[in-house]
Amino acid sequence: MALQNTENPVGHSETSRSQALFERAKKRIPGGVNSPVRAFKAVGGTPRFVQRAQGAYFWDADGQRFIDYIGSWGPMILGHGHPAVIEAVQKAMLEGFSYGAPTEREVELAEQIVERVPSLDMVRLVSSGTEAAMSAIRLARGATGRSKIIKFEGCYHGHADALLVKAGSGLATFGNATSAGVPPEVVQHTLVLEYNNIVELEEAFSLHGSSTACLMIEPICGNMNFVRASVLFMKRCRELCTQYGVLFIFDEVMTGFRVALGGAQSVYAKSIPGFKPDMTVMGKVIGGGMPLAAFGGTRDVMEQLAPLGGVYQAGTLSGNPIATACGLATLHELSKPGFYEALGARTQSLMTGMSAAAAKAGVPFSTDSEGGMMGFFLLDKLPHNYAAVMKTDSALFNRFFHSMLAQGIYLAPALFEAGFVSAAHTAEDVEITLAAATKFFAEI
Ligand SMILES: *Cc1c(COP(=O)(O)O)cnc(C)c1O
Repeated sequence: MALQNTENPVGHSETSRSQALFERAKKRIPGGVNSPVRAFKAVGGTPRFVQRAQGAYFWDADGQRFIDYIGSWGPMILGHGHPAVIEAVQKAMLEGFSYGAPTEREVELAEQIVERVPSLDMVRLVSSGTEAAMSAIRLARGATGRSKIIKFEGCYHGHADALLVKAGSGLATFGNATSAGVPPEVVQHTLVLEYNNIVELEEAFSLHGSSTACLMIEPICGNMNFVRASVLFMKRCRELCTQYGVLFIFDEVMTGFRVALGGAQSVYAKSIPGFKPDMTVMGKVIGGGMPLAAFGGTRDVMEQLAPLGGVYQAGTLSGNPIATACGLATLHELSKPGFYEALGARTQSLMTGMSAAAAKAGVPFSTDSEGGMMGFFLLDKLPHNYAAVMKTDSALFNRFFHSMLAQGIYLAPALFEAGFVSAAHTAEDVEITLAAATKFFAEI
């Protein structure tokens, strides 16, 4: 008899309290949520309002326990409520919430980040990944004196105006805004290319390289579920950026301290000797669940920021004393020997188990993972760009999502999102999850 999520023998389909809260929320918050993907629009149904979380689980407003594979979309790498993190946050709270003046903990966190990521000489702390990516681009433009930026279709870098863009028609035309409220003038300098397409990349550089400030990439793209930049593609990006004086920016908001201690850049450095981006954007894990993000790079670039240089950037709550305490305690725990080996093995056991269950039932399935980040597709082989990801059978994915949810397993409520395993997930949690997936695969 397969293991079941026995915490709620009656199932996980009760939504009366969540439904009531959702109705109430919709009266005062647009769509009832403060970030769109939380609304379950892609998968349908009632979003679960969370009451509390501990370790690998959260409990919804109806008192049902779920195994959490989102972890706040990445930050909760230790699981929820790690005792050492709670202690650090409680201690910090008693010393004051925010000062608007420098603190020792900010220095310590900056030192700790720089120590673990060899491409960084300096970082500036901010409060969200959006802010970090937006500021990195302003700095790149200021440092190079150029306006154009290159990004890739399917990569998400937060919701700054210039980055809410989809590809235009051909390389001569720049992008089209993907959001209302973004004037064409604001995106006219943003060129959107296909991920992993070396031919198009080379063409774009020969046309626009010498007027481009930066190229920004999600090295392992978690906003297309899970798509890696190939080593060859990454190598070519690096070569072309160097050749044309374009700053190569790694958006590691999701992958930083999630896939490895040195981030995704350390994963590529294993295959490309000496590999380094010029700048890096971080968020999510470095705040351990508190609003904290950072952007960093080499000293010559970073020293162009105010108050030293002419590129303005600021923040009332930047380097917040409670957020830095939370981030430091989290970094301390994940820096312990063997942390990523254990996390990676647990993640892999889940993905290989799911893959085997799907194969047994004859369901198309492909998967990849790195450290505590994973992705799977209901496709025969892994996609390498956004168009290929789009070929996923979304109706089938939605049935899978709801079947898992009803069995107490909380996956990302959209097929374009990565999943996250934390250090708190046990072998038993994985077994329960696999039993639920096996049940679904057998039914379809
Ligand atoms: C989450 C994310 C962002 C945006 O961060 P926020 O803190 O949500 O503003 C930017 N880039 C990547 C790769 C992300 O995953």
